[in-house]
Order: sequence, then structure tokens, then C-alpha cells
Amino acid sequence: MREQLTELARLQEIDDQLAKLERSKGDYPQRIDELESELTRRVQLQQGMEEEEKDLQKEQRNLERQIKDHQARVAKLQDRLGEVKTNKEWDALQKEMDAAKGELSGVEDHLLEIMEKIEGAGDDPETDGEELDDFKPHAEAEIKDLKVKLSGVDSKMARIRSERDALTVHLDDGLKRIYNRVKEGKQGTAVVPVVRGACGGCYNRIPPQTITEIRRAERPITCENCGRIMLWFGEDEGS
Ligand SMILES: [Zn+2]
Repeated sequence: MREQLTELARLQEIDDQLAKLERSKGDYPQRIDELESELTRRVQLQQGMEEEEKDLQKEQRNLERQIKDHQARVAKLQDRLGEVKTNKEWDALQKEMDAAKGELSGVEDHLLEIMEKIEGAGDDPETDGEELDDFKPHAEAEIKDLKVKLSGVDSKMARIRSERDALTVHLDDGLKRIYNRVKEGKQGTAVVPVVRGACGGCYNRIPPQTITEIRRAERPITCENCGRIMLWFGEDEGS
């Protein structure tokens, strides 16, 4: 049992290391998530803008074609005005001319609107690509850096976990059960040394008879106050 209890102390050490490494990750995972989703948002925003700009340019070309058609029509009417013989014919042509000019100016106004929209798209730093070009390399570099740090911690943890697995294989099931139960309730610390005749976890005084039992290490002795497993590490840690 003494050997088993020593291994239990080693298990506690390993779990402390794992907990410390886990804490050392800090907010890296959240930071990576944040950067990645912000990057995706900005890329989508820019793609959306590029598509919209393409649509606008298509519309621009379409309107320019329409303007040419209308201009040709107006020119043709102008020619015919020079050839009219009667007032009635003149009035009718003039009317047709006014309508054609009206349509032309309507299309021209629409084209102006479209062109203003195309120009306006360049004024928004979030959507004209400039800010994305600036943000993207910084975000990607930071993500890469964080991932390198995380994977360093993860591989260290993997090594320690395999050591842990090798250790727990030999550990008595009953002992493991006590350890796991106490560990969950006591923020990760299940095994404590005896410190100046008291429990190293809660500093509750241990009766001399119990200290003798702990030193004998014939069975796991738990603190009657906090429930942690108390071990004697060769000498009283406090003296
Ligand atoms: Zn205690």
C-alpha cells in the first residue's frame, strides 16, 4: 500500500502539472475563435461588395447601351423634323421627340445614380478591401502564433497524460475512486502532505494516533474535515 500511496502522490503532481498547463492556455482558444470569425465576416462583407459592384457595373453597361439607342432615336427624329411638310406632322413628331428625350434623360439620371453608387462603394474602408488587406495579414499572423503556442502546450500535456495513464494502470481501483471523488470536490487537490501535525489541505489538526496511521501507510487516511487523502512524505513538511 505504501508504494500505491506514493504513486497517488505522483498522480497528484501530474494532475497539478496538467491543470497548470491548461491554465497557461489562457484565452488563446477564444481569441483564435474571435479572430477567425472576424476574418470570415470581413471576407464575406468584401465578397458581397464585390458582387454588388459587379452587378452595378453590369447595370451601368446596360444603361449605356440604352442611352445610345435613345440617342440614335432622337437623332433620327431630328432628321425627320427637317423633312416634314405639314404643321400636323410637325406637332406629332415634336411630341414623339419630347417623349424620346424624356426617356433618354430618365435613363441618364439612372446611370448617374449607378455611377455614384459605384464610386461610393470605394469610400467605405470596411468594404473597399483596404481594411481587409490590412487586417487579414495581422489576424492570420496572430492566429498562427496562438496556434503554435497552443500546440506546444497540447503536446506537453499529451506527454504528461501518457505518463498519467501508465501510472493509473497500476493504481488500486478503490484508491482511484477516493482520489477522483475528492479531487472533484476540492478543486483538483486530493492528496496533501501532513504539515505541522495538521492536514496540508485545510490545516485541521490531526490526532497523534491518526498521524501514526498515516506514517504507517497501510491504508489511505482521509482528513475528517476536508476529506483529502493525507500522506507522510518522509518527514512532517512543516518541521
Ligand atoms: Zn483537511
